[in-house]
This record gives sequence, structure tokens and C-alpha cells, in this order.
Amino acid sequence: MPRYTYRFGAGQADGRSDQALLLGGKGANLAEMASLDVPVPPGFTITTEVCAQFHEARGLPDALRGQVTAALEWMAEATGRAFGGADDPLLVSVRSGAPVSMPGMMDTILDLGLNDATVEGLARSTGDPRFAYDCYRRFVAMYGEIVMGVKPDHDDGESRFEELLAARLHAARVDDERELDGAALGALVGEFKAEILKRTGQPFPEDPVAQLWGAIEAVVRSWENPRAEVYRRMNGIDRSLGTAVTIQAMVFGNRGPDSCSGVCFTRNPATGEPGLYGELLWRAQGEDVVAGVRTPEPVASMQSRLPEAYGELVELCNRLEHHFADMQDIEFTVEEGRLWMLQTRSGKRSGKAMVRVAVDMVGEGVLDRHEAIRRIDPDKLGEVMHSTLDPKNRPTPLTKGLPASPGAAIGRVVFSANQAEEWVKRGETVILVRTETSPEDIHGMKVAAGIVTARGGMTSHAAVVARGMGRPCVTAATDLKVDHARERFTVGKTVVAKGDVITLDGSTGEVFVGPATLVPASMSAEFETLMSWVDEVRRLRVRTNADTPADARTARAFGAEGIGLCRTEHMFFAPERILAVREMILAGDEAGRRAALVKILPMQRDDFLDIFRAMDGLPVTIRLLDPPLHEFLPQTSQDIAQVAAQLGRRPEEVAAAVAGLHEQNPMLGHRGCRLAMSYPEIYETQTQAIADAALLALAEGVTVLPEIMIPFVSTPAELSLLREHVRLVFDERLAEAKVELEYLIGTMIELPRACLVGDRIAEHADFFSFGTNDLTQTVWGLSRDDSGRFLPTYLDNGWLERDPFVSLDRAGVGALIRIGVEKGRARKTKLKVGICGEHGGDPSSVEFCHVEGFDYVSCSPFRVPIARVAAARAALRGEARGK
Ligand code: PEP
Ligand code: MG
Repeated sequence: MPRYTYRFGAGQADGRSDQALLLGGKGANLAEMASLDVPVPPGFTITTEVCAQFHEARGLPDALRGQVTAALEWMAEATGRAFGGADDPLLVSVRSGAPVSMPGMMDTILDLGLNDATVEGLARSTGDPRFAYDCYRRFVAMYGEIVMGVKPDHDDGESRFEELLAARLHAARVDDERELDGAALGALVGEFKAEILKRTGQPFPEDPVAQLWGAIEAVVRSWENPRAEVYRRMNGIDRSLGTAVTIQAMVFGNRGPDSCSGVCFTRNPATGEPGLYGELLWRAQGEDVVAGVRTPEPVASMQSRLPEAYGELVELCNRLEHHFADMQDIEFTVEEGRLWMLQTRSGKRSGKAMVRVAVDMVGEGVLDRHEAIRRIDPDKLGEVMHSTLDPKNRPTPLTKGLPASPGAAIGRVVFSANQAEEWVKRGETVILVRTETSPEDIHGMKVAAGIVTARGGMTSHAAVVARGMGRPCVTAATDLKVDHARERFTVGKTVVAKGDVITLDGSTGEVFVGPATLVPASMSAEFETLMSWVDEVRRLRVRTNADTPADARTARAFGAEGIGLCRTEHMFFAPERILAVREMILAGDEAGRRAALVKILPMQRDDFLDIFRAMDGLPVTIRLLDPPLHEFLPQTSQDIAQVAAQLGRRPEEVAAAVAGLHEQNPMLGHRGCRLAMSYPEIYETQTQAIADAALLALAEGVTVLPEIMIPFVSTPAELSLLREHVRLVFDERLAEAKVELEYLIGTMIELPRACLVGDRIAEHADFFSFGTNDLTQTVWGLSRDDSGRFLPTYLDNGWLERDPFVSLDRAGVGALIRIGVEKGRARKTKLKVGICGEHGGDPSSVEFCHVEGFDYVSCSPFRVPIARVAAARAALRGEARGK
């Protein structure tokens, strides 16, 4: 018979930490903690296989019933309490736990096992009726919402049970539910049950066994709830994994003055600083901390009140961090002075903390350098490079909350997740402001530039999710009063309405009215250390795509080892240049084009000179003109009239020329090297500008390594002709100056045919640079510019796993690239191979380039560190596979 339940606690464990696939992260680590003699309340975990079976429409397996009953009996023995017992009853929590952490996305039920009889048993055994009825009202509310499906009355509104509680508090003239006595709480339970019956037509089940099965099924079902679906899609989590269900004896943080519930990290999850970091609520259950019902206290507040339990917590946290060799995120409860650990897992952290923890742990001897690199999520590194508020120009903050997730953000205020989505669709940048967030808000948090909540803490939903997403976030801005109905918030007398612009600083917790000045990020010492280790390991070189000297300098500061793509056409759009470019295009003959090109030459030369200076000693790949010419021409009649006036031509003449250049399918038309086949003088002038800039730079003592790149080649004849032409022009300039300089002439591979005839193209190329933007477009027959209309539907429905314009499609585009590289290198062993499409900064695509033996990848400046780490991780994985 298959085994569906695994026990833990009371000095015994059926499972281990490496069984997360079967037991979920929570179940596996509870088992591990139990075998390490960490105090965990006894319980058992139902495997993820049960969830998988359930969702295959097969229901819960028959054999589960007997195994659950046996495990409950074992728990009763271990705790000395009977489930459903009339005296001192065993109460349990029923929790979800997937193999990959999905915080708050699925359901959890606490205090299960209470009914009108057992609540009296609990009151008697604890001598505390208030406590017993507090548990009971919590349980009935949770059960009503999660298992029986009682919904709030309004979108984004309070739950029905919270409303009833608020009414009770109001009637009793108190603010805090801890001030309600047992009788008041008992009456509340009655109201909750009546509400459940009214709303669902079903009575609340009094039988603890029926309660348990209802809860197990609800937790299993919650694997497929919409918010879990969204979270899985965002994080690429496989739907077939399923959730485990952990059933564990309750311990009570809401018991008395020496009881509390808390969440703590073994290091600061925002900065990575060592030392316990967390918060707790006295007389509260764990869910209160996560839901942010009150503003919690720092975990250190336990030290003076419960020194022994605090000492034990510190010791256990250290032990667990060492055992798992990673920063831990721990849930604990103290019941009447006795500490219990409820969960441990690797802590989610900001990009900054990720770097610091990895580097510090190498220093502490916990990890080696390679393991530290493996721990880095390259995509998260972007956060380290977040902009921050200009310290010299810092406005006075409107209010201050907690620095929940670092980085600064500016945007228009919206008050609901749906609004956030609508406004972003309209092209606005928004800050989502809420009293607190819940998992229902995930789609709004995903699109918002930043998040502010009035309640919560460093471990509340908003904080955890925002940090995971790398979104700047401020929580617990308690002076901020959100008025959802009037769509505004107030801080004292200041009123901020929907649509007003605010700035938030997630690194300090401050919120400002209006836009503040931001400055780009500066790298920490730990970041530099990590990068030096990364550079020791990687084989791939990392270059950048940069068209301006400023971008080139930024990229160099991020470690770029040259420019892999300088798109010359971007230099043509400046207002003072575009006229000369238009004159060239509109000229009817070669003489006219040359006359205009003479004006363009010095402008291009000066740009190249600045770029050579910025990249002193490093290679610079300059691509000759690529886009179809009409992209540079005026389109509206007004613009046409203006250009005609500027050029001293008649508007009809200009309009006719524009019409004459129209193409049905310009991306597959007269562009790239095809332009130069018709008008060789364009590439000729650009080559002269490059040669002249190189000579000027050399004269200044700059080391120049120019690489000229010819785009959109499909036949060897194009490259052979254009290469010869470029070479003649370049050499002529060098000969005139009596200077010797090495330079390369290569090509972009952007068309399937170019891959297939790679051997013949390689005869004329010093290097291949794969332009995977166009190559993806042409291999898929998928327009780069229009795919946004329908590709998201493919992704949302799972018809496509990943957007091929973001992450290289290995099966299709990758297969052609492999042919191109193999053929190219078969003809020319030393052929240099790189990539300069957007994929050059995508970690999975970088790995592909490593495996295929590329020499370099080239990406936008801010992605350079990401590509460096990705290249090192690829090298380590390759080593592990013996490649
Ligand atoms: C490419 O096609 O991948 C490329 C880098 O060129 P562009 O994006 O300029 O077409
Ligand atoms: Mg291209």
C-alpha cells in the first residue's frame, strides 16, 4: 500500500529535509528539525502525491483515511491529548506546504478540533475561558472562509467575520480584541456560525473528524486557486508538483502574557546583515503576524521579558542556519514561556542581502566560493543596481514606515490591484497603496513600481512578496490612513488622492509627496568581492550593447569587457542630425547622397571617438546601418511640409519620395547590408568615420580595437563584396595616416539562411555575432513588433513556456545557431562567436552560449553583472557535468 503520511516530533521523524518533493518544504524541514531534537510540536505530513491524485480528478485515495486515523492516534499518544476529547482536547493546525515556497498563496487552518463541547474542555484544562473562546472564534472564522467559502461583501473588502468582530469591539467600546472576555467571544462564535449557515446554507460541522477532512480537502484544493496559479506562472513553478498537507498539534501563542508568536530571519533579509532579525506579537497566533493585524515588536523584545526562551531561540536559529548552510526564515511560538519551532526554510531576501549573505558565509567558512556563486539568482542582481534617492536632494518625507524591500520608486497612487493593472495598461507607472495586502493583490503588486501599506511589518504579506519580486516596498506606514471608499489617503492634514504622484524609498521606509530625484545604485564591497570570484570561474566574456559614451562608461563600471553592439542608427535621430540623414535619403542620386553624407561623417566620427575613449583597451563592435530608410522619414503631412521647407524642396516631392520608400514588410525588406548593396556610399562613409575616429583616439594614446559588423547578411556574396569595400576604405585611411592598426570585419547572423550557409559566410568573416532578436523573428515567423498582441495569451495558457524574445528558444532558434557555429568553425577554426540580441542578458540564454562554446555575450549595461554571474554559474554546472 502506498505510504501517504509521514510523522515527525516527539523524538521521531519518518522523513528528511531532502524529501521536499514528497513532503513539501515545510513537512521535510519539520521532519529534519525533529530529528535534530529541535522542539517541534508533533504532527504528520500528507504527501504531495495525494494532491496530484486529487487534481487528476481521482479524489482523495481510499488508503489515506486509515493512515490519517493511525497518525492522529500517534499524535494523541505523543501529546497525551485526544482529538475530539472532551477534556484537554488535542487541537491541530492544517497547513499547506509546496516543494517550492509559495508564501501565503495557499490555505492554512488553525485551532481545528474545537466545537461547543471541546471548547469547554479547553477552558477547563487551561483555566482560561477567554483564551479557549478566542481560539474558537478564530477557528470558526477561518473554517468559514477557507473551507465553507464565505466571501467578503465587497471586492478588496474586509471579511464578514472581521466586520462582525469590529461591531463587537464597537459595542464593547474597546479597540483591541484582547480586551473582549470569554462570554463576548462565545457570543461572537454564535454569530459566526449563524453567518455561515445564512451564507452557505450549511451548518458549521461540530464533528472534529469531519472538520479535519474538510480542511485537508480545502488545503489540497487551494493548490489550484487563482492566486497560486498567478504565483506559479510568475515564478516558473511546475503545476504538477502539488502541495503537501501538514497536520500538527497546536501550540498557543495567544495563551497568556508569556505567550507570543513570531517570525524571524537568521540575518536581515533586506540588507543581509548578520544577527537575528524578526518580530513577534505577544498573545497572538502566527497568522496575526503574517496578516499584520497589529504592528509587531522586534524579536529582541523577548530578551528582557523571557530571557531563557530568547536564549534558546538564538541558539536554535544558529544551529539551523549552520545545519542548512543558509539563512533561515523561522516561525516560532512561545506558549507560556516554552519555545516551539513551527517552521524553518531558506529565507527569501533582497538582491542586496543575497549577495551579502553569500559572501559573508564564505568568510565564516560555511560555504566555498563556488557554492556562493551557485546561491546567486542572477535575475535578482538587478535589484542591487536599483536607483536610490539622491542624498543631496532629499525632500522632507510625508511619513515613514518600515524599509520592507529596497530601492526607490516614483509613481501615481492607486488603491486596488485591479486599478494598478488598468493604469499600467494605459502606460502609467503606479504605486499601490493599501491598508495591507493579501494574496488576492498579487496581480497588482506584480505591475506596480512600488508598494506602500499602512499596516503589517517586515514579514507581512506585502513585505515578503515585494522582496521576492524585487519591488521597492514600505510597510507599516501607520500614520497613513487609507480611505478606500473616497480613493485617497491622508497623513495628518495632507491628502493624497488617486493619481497623485508619490515617491517611496524602500531602503529607509520613507514616503514622499511628488517625484524626488533618484541616483543610480552604487555597488557594495560584497558585490565587488562576489564579482571577482565570478570572474575567476567564468569562461565566457561579457560585453555590452551601447550606443553612447555614457552607456559605455556605465557598462564598463559594471564590468563590461568591450562593446558587442553599437547600433549606429541611434546616433542619427538627434534633432540636429536627422535633417542631414533625411537629405541623404531623399537625394535622387549618388552625388546628392554623398553631399549629405559629408555632413554626417564628422558627427559619427566624434561619437565613435568618445566611445573608443570610454572603452580604451577593449574591443568595440560597430554595426553599420541596419534599419530600412523610411524609418528616418517624416510621416504626417505637417512633418513632411516642415522637412520640405528645411531642405528647400516642394512638399509633394518629399511626400512622393516617402511614398516611394514604403515597403509592405520592411523588416524583411530593403534593410541591413541590402541597403549598402544598393548604396555602397553609406557604409563607405561610416567606415571612414570609424577609421578617422580610431586614428584620432590612437593619437591620444587610447588603445583601439575596432570591429566592424555587417548586418542582415543572407548570402556569402553580400559579405564578400561589402567586406572588400570596407577593407579598402579603412586601409586607405590608415595608409594616408601611415598608421598600422588591426581591426576586424565580421557579420551578424540574423537569418536562418545565414546559419545554414555559415561555412561559406565564415570565409569572409572574422567573427559571427548572433542577432537573436531578428533570428527569433525569422525562425518563428513571428513579428518582433506585433507579437505582444497574442503571445501573452500563449504564455498565460501555458501553450508556450517562455517568451522566445526573452529567453532563447533552444529547440528551434538554438538548433539553427548550433548549425551556424559548427559550420562557421568548420571553415574557420578561430572564428570568434558572440551574441548581441536581447538574450545576451538572460541567464538561461547565457548558459546556452556557454555550452555552445561562444566567446562572448553582449547585453545592455545594467545586465552586465547578471550575465557575468550567469556565465560563471554555467561554467560551474558544466564542470559538474564534466563538460
Ligand atoms: C538582433 O537582431 O538581435 C539585433 C541585435 O539587432 P537589432 O535588435 O538592432 O535588430
Ligand atoms: Mg537585428
